[in-house]
Parts: sequence; C-alpha cells; structure tokens
Amino acid sequence: MSGVVLVVNAGSSSIKLEVFATDGLARLANLLFEGIGVRPAMRAKDGAGAVLAERMWAEGGPADHRAALAEVTAWLAPFLGERRVVAVGHRVVHGGPEHALPIVVDAAARSALARLVPLAPLHQPHNLAGIDAMAALYPGVPQVACFDTAFHRGHPFVADAFGLPRTLYDEGIRRYGFHGLSYEYISGRLVEVAPEIAAGRVIVAHLGNGASMCAIRQGRSIDSTMGFTAVDGLPMGTRTGQLDPGVMLHLMTARGMDAAALTRLLYNESGLKGLSGLSSDMRDLEAAGTAQAREAIAYFVYRARKELGALTAALGGLDALVFTAGIGENSPTTRAAICAGMEWLGIALDDRANAAGETVISAPGSRVRILRIPTDEERMIASHALALLRARGGP
Ligand code: ADP
Repeated sequence: MSGVVLVVNAGSSSIKLEVFATDGLARLANLLFEGIGVRPAMRAKDGAGAVLAERMWAEGGPADHRAALAEVTAWLAPFLGERRVVAVGHRVVHGGPEHALPIVVDAAARSALARLVPLAPLHQPHNLAGIDAMAALYPGVPQVACFDTAFHRGHPFVADAFGLPRTLYDEGIRRYGFHGLSYEYISGRLVEVAPEIAAGRVIVAHLGNGASMCAIRQGRSIDSTMGFTAVDGLPMGTRTGQLDPGVMLHLMTARGMDAAALTRLLYNESGLKGLSGLSSDMRDLEAAGTAQAREAIAYFVYRARKELGALTAALGGLDALVFTAGIGENSPTTRAAICAGMEWLGIALDDRANAAGETVISAPGSRVRILRIPTDEERMIASHALALLRARGGP
C-alpha cells in the first residue's frame, strides 16, 4: 500500500498542511486553515494548485488548533483513500542549543521542546499545539519535529555569541539563526543545479515576509543575519531587523513602553510596513512608487547589501549568491538593486536572465555565480520525516 507524509506548519491563527507521497515525494495536496478562533476558513488544493474544496464557518466554527486539524484531517481521509499516513513532519521554530537534526517527538522530547517556549513565545506554542493535535488524531504515527534553528547549530562561537556576560551564553542567550529548513533545502538543490560551487562559499538570501541571509561553506551554515529571535538582521515585511538596543531602552524609559507594546512595534509595525506607512508587501511598494515606498525599498536593499559584505567577510570570499523566497524569487528589480555596484565583489548580473527569472542570472564573466532557486521548506520537512522513519526501519 502506498503511503503519505503529512507536513504541518502551525502558526498562531493559521495552519498549513501538505501531503507528500512517500514514493518520490510527489506533492499531492495542500490545505490552508485560517482564522482559527476568529473567522475560520479552509481551502484545499491539489498538487497542481487547483482548488479541491473551500469552506467557511460562521459562529461556532473550530476554535483551536485541535479542532481545526480535526476538520482538515476529516476532509483528508476520503482524499487519501487507501494511502496510509506513515509520518507527520512539523515545522518547529526552535530546537534550542541541542538539536542539530530533526527528532521523533516522544513524551520526553515534547517536554524538552516546551521548555524552549520562552525562547520563541510567538511561534513555539503553536508548533507544539500542532504536534499534540496530530498525535491525538493519528495515534502511533511518528511525529517528527524539524527545527528552523537546526541547520545553524554548527556556527562557531563568534557567530553564536553576543558580547554579554558568559553566563547568559551558557543559559542559551545565543544567536540561533532561523529559516534553516529553507537554507538546507537550497544547499541540497545547489548540489543538483551547480555541483561545482555547492561545496564552495555561498550566501543565500531568503527574502520573503520574513527575511534573512545565511553564509554557507561546504554545505554548512557558518553564520546568519538572524539572531536570538527572528526579528534581527534584515528589515522584513513588518519586523525591524537589526536595531540598536539603546532605542528600546529609550522607548521604555522616555515613552513608558512595556514589553507588549515593544513586541507589537518590533514585530508588527516596523520594517517595510513601518517605513513606507503603506504596506508590508513588496508588490504594493513597487507599484505605489511614493517617496516613502521608494525609501522603504531602498532601506531593505541597503541592509541586504551590507549583510552581503559582512557575510562575505565571514566566509573569506564568495563563490555564489542565491536568491530565494517571495521577493528573492519574484522581484527582478530587488535582485538587480542588491547586485548593482557590487562588481568589486565579483558580482555581475545578467539583466536579461534576471528579468526572465532564469536559474543562473549572473553574467558569463561574473566571478560570483548568481542564482535564483525557489525554496521548498515543506518538501525539506517531508524528506527529513521519511529519512528518519527509514532510519528506524520504517517504510
Ligand atoms: P513568507 O515569509 O510569508 O513565506 P513569502 O516568501 O511568500 O513570505 O514572500 C512574501 C513577499 O514576497 C511579499 O513581500 C511579496 O510582496 C513578495 N512577492 C511575491 N511575489 C512578488 C513579485 N512578483 N514581485 C515582488 N515581490 C513579490
């Protein structure tokens, strides 16, 4: 009997669930459940993106992750028919200092992951709620946690530490880095599309709603722009990116802002949205053309260029630059703006290939290869879940 791996990405008010066949990891379906506890709505698509089902609830719809996933899996059962769920892979934002690899979640691991909630209070509780719900809905099926931090766990001390007292480092106040599943996927794709540079010095720019960059040497992450939380580094759709901590102290002392108000400011009201006063969405800003929208884009680009220089220094040179995620994959103007004037670094873009969105977008003579590679974090999770299952003697 053929099997499937389910991949769950549970956020605060939405859950994404994707279905992969164990055979070749073909994508069979994806389900999006939004508005948990507010205005629940569910949409299912097949592997080619055609809508299979849509449903909305008025009063009294599913109010939590457990109820939402019960609806999703009830829809899924007849869709799967004879196909058996062999594993469920979960995107879990934080694996703490220990986890450099995915794990099967048993009771002890579940408690250990709960202890990491203070490190990622906005994401970890929802990820764990997804694991609990799926474990109850599919008793006996291995629940595999794949961590956004795992790919970065090999960072050297200097990239892992802040200049704080050592005890805080020992207690876990470190630069963990995130988007690791995306970087790991891109690393794997590089081996396929450009094997001659995959083992070299590579910077991947994951530019989406959340944005970060990662320095990879011989397929291993050595540094990343994100730090203790996913608010550091590049400016993002609504997040600040790097910020002088003195600004926070000032806002607390001079404006009386508390942790909740600062969290809202840093995570929800800043970045492209805050600077443009218009939108967190790069498409809106590119279309608007207002002075503030242009400045917001210019700030995003400037910070990406600075990080490109910094990460190149960390790598001791650069062989390839890869653009990925929503903006990185789809905005030729942002890619061109980041690369412009970077000839000193050996970066020369091919304008035609860039505009056409080809895989290799560097000019023939460019010392640094520039690539555009779509990311696929869900496929990475499915692949991890299956590999772990097989290592335990599964299908
Ligand atoms: P998330 O981090 O939520 O997964 P995505 O990777 O989907 O986000 O990226 C979303 C971002 O990608 C948004 O800023 C969106 O405007 C941008 N984007 C998507 N398509 C385009 C496009 N054609 N041109 C410019 N920006 C785009």
